[in-house]
Amino acid sequence: MKELKQINHYFLKYKFHFFGGILATIVAQFFSLVSPKLISKSIAAVEDYLKQNQTNPQAIKELLIENIFYISLAVLASGILTFLMRQTLIVMSRHVEFDMKNVVFKQYELLTQHFYKNNHTGDLMNRISEDVGRVRMYVGPAVMYTINTIIRFAIVIIYMAEVSPQLTLLTLLPLPILAYFIFKLSTSINKKSLAFQKNLSDLSSYSQEVFSGIRVVKSYSIENKIQSAFDVLSLKSNEKSLELAKTQAFFGPLMLLLIGISNLLVIALGSYMYINGSITKIAVIAEFIIYINMLVWPVTSIGWVSSLVQEAEASQKRINEFLKIEPEIQNNNAKPITIEGNITFHNVSLTYEDTNIKALDNVSFEIKKGETVAIIGRTGSGKSTLLSLLSRLYDPTEGYILVDGHNIIDINLENLRSSIGVVPQDAFLFSDTIKNNIKFGKENASDEEIVVAAKNADVHDNIIHFKEQYETLLGERGISLSGGQKQRVSIARALVNDHQILLLDDCLSAVDTETEEEILNNLETICQGKTTIIVSHRVSSAKNADKIFILDNGKIVQQGTHNQLISQEGYYAALYLKQISEKELL
Ligand code: ATP
Ligand code: MG
Repeated sequence: MKELKQINHYFLKYKFHFFGGILATIVAQFFSLVSPKLISKSIAAVEDYLKQNQTNPQAIKELLIENIFYISLAVLASGILTFLMRQTLIVMSRHVEFDMKNVVFKQYELLTQHFYKNNHTGDLMNRISEDVGRVRMYVGPAVMYTINTIIRFAIVIIYMAEVSPQLTLLTLLPLPILAYFIFKLSTSINKKSLAFQKNLSDLSSYSQEVFSGIRVVKSYSIENKIQSAFDVLSLKSNEKSLELAKTQAFFGPLMLLLIGISNLLVIALGSYMYINGSITKIAVIAEFIIYINMLVWPVTSIGWVSSLVQEAEASQKRINEFLKIEPEIQNNNAKPITIEGNITFHNVSLTYEDTNIKALDNVSFEIKKGETVAIIGRTGSGKSTLLSLLSRLYDPTEGYILVDGHNIIDINLENLRSSIGVVPQDAFLFSDTIKNNIKFGKENASDEEIVVAAKNADVHDNIIHFKEQYETLLGERGISLSGGQKQRVSIARALVNDHQILLLDDCLSAVDTETEEEILNNLETICQGKTTIIVSHRVSSAKNADKIFILDNGKIVQQGTHNQLISQEGYYAALYLKQISEKELL
C-alpha cells in the first residue's frame, strides 16, 4: 500500500463523496438486515401457532401482513441507499480517474523528445488508460466493497451471535476458505487478463503501423508477409483469451459450490442442534440461512478486492515512477520579456545521449535582429538539430545560446517558444480542418488573418478549390494533402502569428521552384524586421539571405553571402554549379 498512499489526498478532495458514501453504506446495511429478523419472527409466530393448536388465524394473518409491509419498506430503503452508495463512491472514483489522467497527461507534455524516443507509444497509452483504470478500481469498487464487507460482517455476526453463538461459530468456519480460493482465482484471472491485454496492445500497435505504412505495403506487395505476422500475433492473443475465459469460468461454479456447502452446513448443524434441544425454533435455521447467504458476497469480495489492491499498487508504482521523472528541459519563473531576435551561439555542441552522435560541434555565430540567415549542408550535417536547440527541444551539451543577450535557459520557456515561429521539416498536420490547423499558430486568429497567412504561404488557391474550402477535414477522416500542400499549410501556421523569430526547416523541399520563388518573395515582405533562419538544400532558397552558413559534420565550415560563397571553392559553389546546370537542362 506504500505506493497507493500517494493518492490519499484525493479522498480528502472528494470528502463529501467519500464520507457520504460511507454513511449511505452503513445505513443501507441496517435496512438490509431488517428482513431476516422479520422473516424469522414470522416463521416463529407460525411455529407457535401450530404448536399451540390455535384455531383463530386472524391475529397471525395480521402479523404476517404487517411484517411483509415492513420488509418491503426496508428493502426499498436499502435499495435507495445502495444506489446512493454507488452514486457517491463510484462517482468519486470516476472523478479521481479524471484528475489522474490529467496529471499524467500534463507530465507527458512536460517530458522531452528524448523520453518519447525511449518509450513505446503503446506503453505511454497504457499508463494513461490501463494503469489509471486499475487505480480507479481501488478508489471505487475496492474501497466500496471493503466498507460494505466490514459493516455487514460486524452487524450480521452480532445478530447471529445473539441468536446462537455456537451455530454462528460452526457455520462461519468455511468462509475463510472461500475467501482464500477467491483470492487465488482472482489473482490468476488478473494475471491472465494482463497477459491478454499486453498481447492485444501488441496487436493494435502492429496494425496501426501497417495502416500508416499502407502505401509502402501495397507498393511492395508484401500483404502476405504482413498477414502472416498478423496471424501469429492474433493466434497468440486468441490463446491468451481462451486461457482467461477458462479461468473465469471457475468463478461462478466455485461461488455456487461454496454457497451450497454453507447452506448445507447450516441446515445439518441447525437440525442437529434443534433435535438435541440447543435451539428451540426452526425459525432460527431459516434466519441463519439468510445470514449466511448475505455473507457469501462480502466474503467473495475480500478475495477479489485483495487482488484488485495488488494490481492497483503495481499500477500506481508505475505511475509514481513516471511522475517522478524530471523533465530535462526545465522551465523557470522568469518574467516574460519582449524578444527582439538577436541570436548568439557560443561554442555550442550537442551530443545525442542515446546514439552518442555529436550532431553539433563547437558552433559559434551571431545573427542580428531582422537578419535572414540560410543554413545549407549535407543531409545529417546538423541543421535541424541547430534549430531545435533554439526552441529548446534540447539543451546544448556544451556552450550556450543567447537571445537578446539572455541565455535562453534563463528565459521563460513559454515566452521563448511563443516568440519563435517554427515550420518543422516533417510537416505534421492534425486530423482537423485546414482552418484549425492554421489556427494552432494563433488561438484567436480571425478568418481574415488565416486567409492572409494562407495567401503568403501560397496555398490559398489550393484551399479554395476544395469543396469545403477552409473547413476541409484533413487526415484520417478527411482528405490527404500533397506533400507540397502540407508544407505550405504548415508555413501558413507559422505565419499566422507575428513571431519575432522564424525558423523554416527545409520547408520548401516539396514545392516546385516557381512556388518556392513566390513564397520566398512573400517571406521577404513579411519578415521585414524579423530574424529568419532558412534551412535548405537548394541554393535558390539561400541566395537572397544576408548570411549563409555551410554546415558539415556539425561544424560551420564556411560562411558569407551568396556572392562571396560562389567565388570560393567549397560545398556551396559546387552545389550552385550543379543546380544551375540542372536548371539549364530543364
Ligand atoms: P537533413 O538535411 O537530412 O534534414 P540535418 O542536417 O537536419 O539533416 P540532423 O537532423 O540535425 O541533420 O541530424 C544530425 C545528426 O544527428 C544525424 O547524424 C542524425 O542521425 C542525428 N540525430 C538527429 N536527431 C536525433 C535524435 N533525436 N536522436 C539521436 N540522434 C539524432
Ligand atoms: Mg533536418
